[in-house]
Amino acid sequence: MYPAQIGYYKPQNVGEALEFMEGNDAKILAGGQSLIPMLKLRILKPKYLVDIGELAELSFIKEGEETTIGSTTKHWELASKRISGLEIIQNAASKVGDVQVRNVGTVGGSLSNADPSSDYPAVFTALDATMIIRSRRGLREEKAEDFFKGPFTTSLDPSEILERVKVKALKGYKQVYKKIVRRAGDYALVGLALAIKIDSGMVKDARIAFTGVGDKPYRSREAENEIKDTKLTDSDISKAVEASVKGINPPSDSRGSSNYRKEVMKRLLKNSLEEMRNAS
Ligand SMILES: Cc1cc2nc3c(=O)[nH]c(=O)nc-3n(C[C@H](O)[C@H](O)[C@H](O)COP(=O)(O)OP(=O)(O)OC[C@H]3O[C@@H](n4cnc5c(N)ncnc54)[C@H](O)[C@@H]3O)c2cc1C
Repeated sequence: MYPAQIGYYKPQNVGEALEFMEGNDAKILAGGQSLIPMLKLRILKPKYLVDIGELAELSFIKEGEETTIGSTTKHWELASKRISGLEIIQNAASKVGDVQVRNVGTVGGSLSNADPSSDYPAVFTALDATMIIRSRRGLREEKAEDFFKGPFTTSLDPSEILERVKVKALKGYKQVYKKIVRRAGDYALVGLALAIKIDSGMVKDARIAFTGVGDKPYRSREAENEIKDTKLTDSDISKAVEASVKGINPPSDSRGSSNYRKEVMKRLLKNSLEEMRNAS
């Protein structure tokens, strides 16, 4: 199916993009990997597309104690770069879709799209990332956990652009993003973003977030608390694994039932925690 007729605007900078978006029924176009299919299916019918995909000012990775990533940074760029203390980002980026998707899709597009099965939302939630959002009113910052509101819904309003994401390095943490898929290149059936800091045999901090198990990324603070200040014994791991599925009701669909997803969550967490403990 072809999309309905749409106007196209290519701004020279973010200021021009924001000016055009104000008062116009416009949608931002970044990599187009999620937006174009929605236009073709006529799920979305904006009057204009504002193409920010090639704005150099939004494409960067600035490393430091706090790393900042511009919104039009492509998946392949993140997949090619090891950011010290944030290795989980490279790990996740390399698992997004396939080579074609990674070549054009952007981190800002993925986060703004907020697909409940996408990979970055769980990762940036586990990292306690800060979203930096620009509109003509100025800049505002929001924690990742508050940014995601539900399926394909964020706190962004139509006059706003997700400009960059800010993340503190997790120095000395073991970190991994794992996803279970039915076929190579698929969205996650369940994905786990995990980072733990082990010092003198004790877990000093833990970050545990899942994708594919609800309307938005799910951070399990109960599971985190079960392993904090423990030696990560088999019993500590079992308690965390049970806590991770307490009170949640993952969706059932053609790829797996709700109970199956819960089993996958448990296996992913158990195996990953055991691997991290055994490697320390
Ligand atoms: C075959 C296929 C497989 C895929 N597999 C996976 C996968 O395994 N895991 C995964 O996570 N993703 C997957 N994706 C999605 C992919 O990651 C997309 O790149 C991503 O969802 C959207 O990024 P984009 O840059 O293409 O954004 P677009 O499609 O251009 O935009 C998506 C939405 O975000 C809005 N938007 C874009 N940028 C901004 C911004 N800076 N500020 C505000 N709003 C913005 C747009 O208006 C639109 O509503 C897959 C896509 C395809 C086509």
